[in-house]
Amino acid sequence: MIFIGCHLSVTDGCEAMGKTMLDLGGSTFAYFTRNPRGGKSKDIVPDDAAALNALLKRENFGPLVAHGSYTMNLCAANPAMRENGLDMLKKDLARMKLFPGALYNFHPGAHVGQGAETGIQLIADALNETLTAQTRTTVLLETMAGKGSEIGGSFGELREIIDRVDRRDLLGVCLDTCHVWDAGYDIVDDFDGVLTEFDRVVGLSRLNAIHFNDSKNERGSRKDRHEKLSRGKIGGDAMRRIALHPALQGLPFILETPNDAEGYRREIRTVLDWFRE
Ligand code: FE
Ligand code: FE
Ligand code: ZN
Repeated sequence: MIFIGCHLSVTDGCEAMGKTMLDLGGSTFAYFTRNPRGGKSKDIVPDDAAALNALLKRENFGPLVAHGSYTMNLCAANPAMRENGLDMLKKDLARMKLFPGALYNFHPGAHVGQGAETGIQLIADALNETLTAQTRTTVLLETMAGKGSEIGGSFGELREIIDRVDRRDLLGVCLDTCHVWDAGYDIVDDFDGVLTEFDRVVGLSRLNAIHFNDSKNERGSRKDRHEKLSRGKIGGDAMRRIALHPALQGLPFILETPNDAEGYRREIRTVLDWFRE
């Protein structure tokens, strides 16, 4: 069995997200630690966080997957932007202390013309400055579509970052199905082969979460346009095989498909039905 859920808004607080997910029929969820595009964060009330933690435990939820801001670019060419990204990362991880056992995932960054090698080094530097002996939160690098100068469009780039971080015991990967497909990995006809490759390059023990999205585009398009489950180029059969894959059982699966709440309710039910067939 997997844990399934979607992104929720933190606007009404933490426990409210747990209640919403219960109502939608899921068993995990993701939320943006700050406005995904603006970068502003909402203060988290400790009592509210504790109430959510109690709900997660009582209802046997899987780990939360908090998502860092899209505006955080740890390998920006502009030093002020890089500094701003580092500041967001530090503050986000400080706040994550309120959620023991939760995961924090982020987009590694875009090297904007500096080259992948420089980008990888800057990301590793930022992680080395942030992840200290006191850090407890597992931090996940997200697999990217390889759009523009994005780092993380190949498993090898993620491995390179991990290798350069001292506290690599805290690092994992969030595999986004739309992104890896768009990056060129054939998860439709050879998901086993892709997982074997992931295991060889990164190690399956570092696979901590799945972003479960169909894609609007063909394999290798490098576009990063998510589609509703089963409506895209990955398609329902492949999505079903991925969800049922023995190597992925026990992981949180987060839908980031273009849906409203009712759409998510339906997709969560669809996924759960695959396990009942
Ligand atoms: Fe993401
Ligand atoms: Fe994603
Ligand atoms: Zn995406």
